[in-house]
Amino acid sequence: MSQIGTETTPVRVAIIGSGPSGFYAADALLKQTDYVIEMDMFDRLPTPYGLVRGGVAPDHPKIKSVTKVYDKIAAHPHFRLFGHVEFGKDITHDEIKAHYHAVIYAVGAQTDRRLGIPGEDLIGSYAATEFVAWYNAHPDYRDLQFDLSQERVAVIGNGNVAMDVARILASSYEELRKTDIADYALEALRTSKVKEVYMLGRRGPAQASFTNPELKELGTLSLADVIVKADEVTLDPLSSAALAATPDPLAEKNLKTLNEYLQRPIAGKPRQIHLRFLVSPVVIMGTERVEGIRLVKNALQQADDGTLRPRATGEFEELPVGIVFRSIGYTGVALPGVPFDAKAGVIPNQLGRVIDPATKQTILGEYTVGWIKRGPSGVIGTNKPDAVESVTQLLADIPNFAELDPTQAVRESVDTLLLVKQPNFTTYSDWSALDQLEIQNGAAQDRPRLKYSRVDQMLDAAEAARRARAASTPV
Ligand code: NAP
Repeated sequence: MSQIGTETTPVRVAIIGSGPSGFYAADALLKQTDYVIEMDMFDRLPTPYGLVRGGVAPDHPKIKSVTKVYDKIAAHPHFRLFGHVEFGKDITHDEIKAHYHAVIYAVGAQTDRRLGIPGEDLIGSYAATEFVAWYNAHPDYRDLQFDLSQERVAVIGNGNVAMDVARILASSYEELRKTDIADYALEALRTSKVKEVYMLGRRGPAQASFTNPELKELGTLSLADVIVKADEVTLDPLSSAALAATPDPLAEKNLKTLNEYLQRPIAGKPRQIHLRFLVSPVVIMGTERVEGIRLVKNALQQADDGTLRPRATGEFEELPVGIVFRSIGYTGVALPGVPFDAKAGVIPNQLGRVIDPATKQTILGEYTVGWIKRGPSGVIGTNKPDAVESVTQLLADIPNFAELDPTQAVRESVDTLLLVKQPNFTTYSDWSALDQLEIQNGAAQDRPRLKYSRVDQMLDAAEAARRARAASTPV
């Protein structure tokens, strides 16, 4: 057999997941010049982009414009996308190993973390991640129902997802209409009765994990006042000392913005966003559905690692709310046949090389990137250096790939396999056609885009576009 990584025997790589981390892994593979590498990216949805499509808030179009970079990556002749192909079902771990030298898991963190308090499963208690996926037209979540007839809502957590949820709930119909929010979500939010949104942080304002542009954005909403409590945004002695010892520009900016909100006269707008700090939920109250939330007031204390952690004071408060959105972070889900660290919610790895939990050794040919590698942290751009780190390990391993000897490591054998196992797969050309159709359908309603939210609609539209392309191609 000729040397692996040449024109005659390219290195064959499968990338599982088409979100930012998968695309940055593809980019790093395409940018190196030592080897000829071909890659196939798989996604269980017919559409690519992971959280850029299903997670980034609809009113943040600039963040979504990163997909232009992914389009360029996808245009490379050594790149292919297979959408609507689920790992573990339509293509198994064994099949991947037979068709590729290497696999990169880029599946993100697909579920929400749990609070572990009574009442978490009452009607009206929702995972923020589900609400986000719902308003972003994710097919798995589009049929969920959120009871927006309630006037008071609690959002638990002080991260950017909590910010997104609070902002979407408090935005006006006119503000939302300008976005690519799912049509059914726009309609449900148009008739929403929500008036008061309480964002509940368990630590103080200096420890909040939301970023400053998101905090400032709340203050620009046409329908909502932002309300903070003087005693909660006044810095405690431990936080002051920590900031004096180690300046933290993000915390400083957030404190400045929160103090501006404190000084700002309340305009009497019809909705209010209350930013609360140093409170932890202990019970979500109600018999059948959410009726309120019991909070304990916290003080901060220094942990052994030097961080400031919340400590319950024993002072309680009850907040009457009809909806609770739990927004305390995402966590990973195990993939069939792939090692998984259930406690950390990640694939165990060493700089991106997957580790076999039994032997504690790295597995040749298996790599991971993004949130399923490091946990759900950072912004989209964080995934770029993260992917480079993993791809660097993969490239270093190529000389050893000869010992893997995948039996069907040629492009055509993947097409043959999929024609049997999932003939309805979509390609990047199909996605480009869907993309254009969504934009056209949006323009007809004076909206930036009208997203498809059902898999069968996506597949039908892709098939129709394929036929139209074939009919217009001269023979
Ligand atoms: P996150 O930033 O990790 O925030 C999670 C929040 O939940 C923290 O405030 C955390 O408090 C709190 N929390 C955790 N356990 C809790 C508990 N038991 N009780 C009460 N509160 C608890 O996670 P995220 O908001 O899901 O965001 C995930 C990542 O995506 C982040 O890196 C975020 O910046 C990014 N993102 C970015 C954007 C954007 O750029 N616009 C938008 C959305 C998401 P502690 O700090 O005390 O642990």
